[in-house]
Amino acid sequence: MLIQKVVRNCFAGFKNVNFRGSGHQASVAINMRLQHSQPQHGEALPYRPETASAKTLMDIGTRRIFSEEHDLFRQNVRRFFQEQVVPHHDEWEKAGEVSREVWEKAGEQGLLGIYIPEEHGGIGGDLLSAAVVWEEQMYSNCTGPGFVLHSEIVMPYISNYGTTAQIERYIPQMAAGKCISAIAMTEPGAGSDLQGVRTYARRDGSDWILNGNKVFITNGWMSDLVIVVTVTDREARAAAHGISLFLLEAGTPGFHKGRKLQKIGLKAQDTAELFFEDVRLPADALLGEVNKGFYYLMKELPQERLLIADMAIASCEFMFEETRNYVMQRKAFGKTIAHLQTVQHKLAELKTEICIGRTFVDSCLQLHANKKLDSSTASMAKYWASELQNRVATQCLQLHGGWGYMWEYPIAKAFVDSRVQPIYGGTNEIMKELIARNIISKK
Ligand SMILES: Cc1cc2nc3c(=O)[nH]c(=O)nc-3n(C[C@H](O)[C@H](O)[C@H](O)COP(=O)(O)OP(=O)(O)OC[C@H]3O[C@@H](n4cnc5c(N)ncnc54)[C@H](O)[C@@H]3O)c2cc1C
Repeated sequence: MLIQKVVRNCFAGFKNVNFRGSGHQASVAINMRLQHSQPQHGEALPYRPETASAKTLMDIGTRRIFSEEHDLFRQNVRRFFQEQVVPHHDEWEKAGEVSREVWEKAGEQGLLGIYIPEEHGGIGGDLLSAAVVWEEQMYSNCTGPGFVLHSEIVMPYISNYGTTAQIERYIPQMAAGKCISAIAMTEPGAGSDLQGVRTYARRDGSDWILNGNKVFITNGWMSDLVIVVTVTDREARAAAHGISLFLLEAGTPGFHKGRKLQKIGLKAQDTAELFFEDVRLPADALLGEVNKGFYYLMKELPQERLLIADMAIASCEFMFEETRNYVMQRKAFGKTIAHLQTVQHKLAELKTEICIGRTFVDSCLQLHANKKLDSSTASMAKYWASELQNRVATQCLQLHGGWGYMWEYPIAKAFVDSRVQPIYGGTNEIMKELIARNIISKK
């Protein structure tokens, strides 16, 4: 039922589409599904092909984990990215940030905070509907809007650990795209080693005084609200027991945003430095309990890793289709290069690896939807899928020859955007630490 609400919101957001229009779309979606639904070799309906047997890796109506309602939703999300994001992305890349308008349009169409309960001001949809949005963003090859960090990384902290007053103050505004959010963990001297953060908040009566700085913060420049990871007890028996989370609003005296960082990829995303100089925070800016911040981070990070993994596989699917189209029209030696056996074998290898990756990540999505995904498995997905993404990016760019190195070709952008995936959300070396720890501890 909740997903129907998401689909309805999405249709309602398209002002030039009436319900007759949506009926048409629904029938297109269902027709697509029926094309795939013909029972084969005595199989019973309903049948949804996996991407390996679909016409393209980005077909709607595929993958057992999704339903027809997800397909209908996906169709509209795809249209949102094509109409509201793709035409503006070049301009946003030059500006190093997206428009506020696109955030509000995403909010109007119910694309933000999908997986946040309705009673907290979110959409109350399922995890798989949220996955549709981040997958479609990768299929559009437009990494600019930091929707996923806002919706599936920051909002859950507030929804899970916030007070009623904090939830009521922030979640509805965030779901509407009117309050853009960020999370600030990393510091110039502390990235992988989160327990090494130096940003410090000391008590002053019932208030806190915050000092320190953060770096590489996604949505940092545009942020209206930042969750700041802060030391609150320097004497704790272990650093992890002395860390807290604070909700810091833009405009608070002493809170300064530094420059937008010049990156080799994700060029339309506003990644920034943040500075805190004697920022006075009221007691109700504390998120959750004092000194429990590290525990909250450990609980929430597996979801972040899973979505990086799924975005990685979606990017692979996009790059594969882009490359398939390219080699089928590019001519060399009097024929298209798709006629060359080496090219065909390369495509065969890529498709096989991507489909294997899709199967594992889909099983992780399903596990997480059932609240059964453990941290080590999420780390496996993040590590393996993001490395696959970079192998696929290199090979697909190679198949484009010199044109692949030109910014005007989508594969060039997908290539540079892939590079960060093994770095953020915990580097892949740290993922291997987490996986290994689990292997050793089970004996
Ligand atoms: C585009 C972008 C967006 C980002 N967005 C955010 C954000 O929104 N919020 C946020 O808080 N952070 C963000 N980050 C920061 C990101 O999470 C960190 O860069 C990452 O955790 C690595 O930390 P570091 O850069 O300090 O590298 P370091 O920790 O200095 O690591 C350097 C190298 O040493 C390796 N290494 C370190 N420790 C170990 C170990 N124990 N075992 C093996 N190898 C190790 C690492 O794997 C890496 O290869 C972002 C980064 C980028 C590039």
